[in-house]
Order: sequence, then C-alpha cells, then structure tokens
Amino acid sequence: MLKNLVGGEWKEVSRPALPVYNPATGEVIEEVPLSGPEEVGEAVAAAARAFQSWSRTPVMERVRLMFRFKELLERHFEELARLVTLHHGKTLEEARGEVRRGIEVVDFACGAPTLLQGRTLREVSSGVDQNLFHYPLGVVAGIPPFNFPVMIPLWMFPIAVVAGNTFVLKPSEKTPLGAVRLAELFLEAGFPEGVLNLVHGGQEAVEALIAHPEVRAVQFVGSEPVARRVYALAAEHGKRVSAAGGAKNHLVVMPDADLDLAVPAILNSAFGNAGERCLAGSVAVGVGEVGPELLERVVAAASRLKVGPGWEEGVQVGPLIREEHRQRVVRYINRGLEEGAGLALDGRGIEGPGFFLGPTVLDRVSPGMVVGREEIFGPVLSVSYAQTLEEAIRQANAVSYGNMACIFTQSGRNARVLREEVQAGMVGVNVGVAQPFAFYPFSGWRASFFGDLHPHGPDAFLFYTQRKVVVERW
Ligand code: NAD
Repeated sequence: MLKNLVGGEWKEVSRPALPVYNPATGEVIEEVPLSGPEEVGEAVAAAARAFQSWSRTPVMERVRLMFRFKELLERHFEELARLVTLHHGKTLEEARGEVRRGIEVVDFACGAPTLLQGRTLREVSSGVDQNLFHYPLGVVAGIPPFNFPVMIPLWMFPIAVVAGNTFVLKPSEKTPLGAVRLAELFLEAGFPEGVLNLVHGGQEAVEALIAHPEVRAVQFVGSEPVARRVYALAAEHGKRVSAAGGAKNHLVVMPDADLDLAVPAILNSAFGNAGERCLAGSVAVGVGEVGPELLERVVAAASRLKVGPGWEEGVQVGPLIREEHRQRVVRYINRGLEEGAGLALDGRGIEGPGFFLGPTVLDRVSPGMVVGREEIFGPVLSVSYAQTLEEAIRQANAVSYGNMACIFTQSGRNARVLREEVQAGMVGVNVGVAQPFAFYPFSGWRASFFGDLHPHGPDAFLFYTQRKVVVERW
C-alpha cells in the first residue's frame, strides 16, 4: 500500500484503497489509499509550517537544490521511464519522451533568479520611485491526470517551490507511482521537509484540498467536466486556479501537403500514447482532392502498427489505462458506426489479458456526430472531408474544445490562415503534436482550459506568485 508524504515522512493511511494495475497484463501491482479531509489537513499543515522558512530561503539556495533534483532525475532517467511504462502502459520510447519533457520544466525552473525578477521605475513622480516585487503565495496544490505520471507533476511543483511556495501534490489514483518516485528523489536532493507533500486519493481528497483555508492556489490538469468543476469550486472558495481540460484536436491536410511527412506525423499524433493524450490528433480533415489518398495511406500505415506491452521492442501502441476505459472507447466506436461513420480500420477484438485496443479509423465523421465532437481518449482517428481550408477550419471551430489544431501544407499562406482563424491555443504547422516547450505556456483555449495563466512558461511563475508594488520617497 502506498503511503502519503507528510512533512518529510512517509505515513501509512488507514482508508479504503484502489488497485494500481499493470495495464499490459491486467495484474494488480500496488494499492493506493483514498485519503480524506484528515489526511489532507495533515499535509497542508506540514506545508504551512515549511512555508515559514522556505519562503525566506534565498532564491539561489532554492535553485541549488533544484539543480540537484535535476541531476537525480537525469541519473534515474531510465528507471523513471520504465516505471511510467509499467503502470501507465505507454511504450518505453514514449515514456522516455515524457520524462525528458518533464525534466525540461525543471531546467526552466532553475531560471528562477531571472524569472522572479521584479521591475523598477525611478522618478515616477518628483523624487518618487516605484518597485514591483514577486512574492510566493503560501501552500499551493497540484492535481495531475493519469496520462503523464511523471511529466505533469513536473509541470507543477518545481516551478511552485522554486518560487518559494510549499506544495501538496495529489497524484492520479490510476498512475501514482511516478509521483512517489519523484518525491523520493526530491527528498534525496535535500529539500527541507514539508516543502513537497504527497496525498493519495481521488475526488474526496481534491475537494478537501480546494476547500482547505490554507491552500492558496490550485493547479489542475485532467478531463473537461472535472476541470470545469474544480474551477467553479476553487472560485467559490476564493482560490487562484488554473484548470486544463480535455481536447478534440483537428489535423488539416491540404492538397499540397507532403504526405510522406504528414502520414507518419498523423499516425504518431492519433495513436501515440494509445491516443491517451490531450494533444492527440482526433480528426484528420482531408481538404479537396487529397481526401481519398489520405484515408488510404493512413489506414494502410495504421494497420501495420504493432500493438503490445510497452516494454517490448518494436511495439508502437500500448494498452489503455483500464478495462472500463477500453470498453468506453469501444462504445464510442460503436456509436460512430450507428451515426453513419464508415469503419476503415477496426482495432476491436484484441484478446486480453491487458487492456488493449488496436488503431481504429472511422471515415466520414462530421462535427455533428458524437465521435466528431467528444473526446474519445483512445487509439481512434476520425477522418472527415472539406472542400476548402475555410470549411476545414469551420469544422475545427465547431467543437467546444480548443487545445490544438495542426495543418499539413507547403503554403505559408494556408498555414497563416489556419493560425489566424482557428480557435485553438496550440497550433502545429507540418507537425502532428504541437507541444510547447517548457519555456512557453501550454496554451489551451475554450473548453480545454479554465483560468487565465497556463501550465509552465512565464505564465506559471505569475500563477505561483503575487505582486507587491512599493512607492518610495526618501
Ligand atoms: P480526470 O479528470 O478523471 O482526473 C484528473 C484528476 O482529477 C485526478 O487526479 C483525479 O483523481 C481527480 N478527479 C477525478 N474526478 C474528480 C472529481 N469528480 N472531482 C475532483 N477531482 C477529481 O482525468 P484523467 O482521466 O486522469 O486524465 C485524462 C484527461 O485529462 C483527458 O480528458 C485529457 O485530455 C486531459 N488532459 C489534459 C491536459 C491539458 O493540458 N489540457 C493534459 C493531459 C491530460
């Protein structure tokens, strides 16, 4: 049974628990306790005690510890990737990509001495100067989703703590092992006790964290309905909140696209991470005469993808996170067929014991269909058609989400039109996954994000600090 980390000590929790699976075999490999308000209260109290001295620790000392943490992450890189594959299911190559992207946020956090600088204007009035300082908030909380067990926790606590806050992390109950290992390495790096605390659990723990009077800000990443709820609940309690939600990403393929480049990029976007990615390409829109060839080539290439346990050599599509989720994705496929989509590639019917589903391609999908507008979160690519770029953009804008949109074209004008007109906060040109690097914000729009300051990039330093303005006359 996993333990909570409270004030530098791993504490047993006597509460109901859930199994943690190896999704490639269906075996239970661990148990995760479901903490309640009492356990949350202990962790917040430990964080509040630690804040007294941590917030006064010089920034150079905070950064020195962060560099040590980064060094430990590099040393344990392969172990972390294997842990991600073990309990999430993604391929080792994907897991290595995830860990690398997570470490890049730690690299970015090490820039705190520059990123925390305020500003000054002398002689704002006769003999008067004005200064702006950034201050930490206090105890802050992070609630990550299951699909990036190492990377998304690393979006959260490194920036928060290097800015002088103390942290309570509530890992996903489906994939808590990554956060546990990160916390162990964080302690090994020498951070004082209570700077990072870990509380395992689900909805009850999240609600207790948001309601706790000493928690000043909440960073959430997960599904859209929960993001919306967390946003509202946090607002009700007067908390600062950043809540990233789900997605329905369109990949627009123009007649002038280089399909040798576009098809592998679309495959990686739609079926990488078994489609369990908020930047997964969900709808490929063939514009004009490229449509039939696009479908044919995508289906041919997708049918050759190797499905299996993520640790096996050559595997390209790992299992889904749980059997219930696999069944939910199958229900979406069935629903699409009922709504009139064509079945161009059928990934159903792979036998267990793991939670596998093969790449599936639905043809002739429109935004009016459930499969055309809802997030499926599995290895299912819908193909739709448009006569013009403007029509393709209208299809992308017809869904409520606005995480990412990509275009494949050799025309700068086409790329610019999409960039200007599409209602999505992350845009790819001839790339299938437009993931911003750590020093830019992860910039979802519309129902993909609730709040104003996004994960990582300078946004995150603003999110985790408050500003004080001083007007001086001497
Ligand atoms: P989820 O919303 O089910 O869970 C996310 C977190 O919220 C977990 O820690 C969970 O314990 C907690 N939670 C679950 N139900 C809750 C409730 N009713 N009240 C309070 N807390 C609750 O999401 P998930 O299934 O873990 O992750 C997949 C989703 O996350 C997908 O929709 C995906 O698009 C999204 N996602 C978004 C981004 C982004 O940056 N926009 C990144 C990754 C994943």
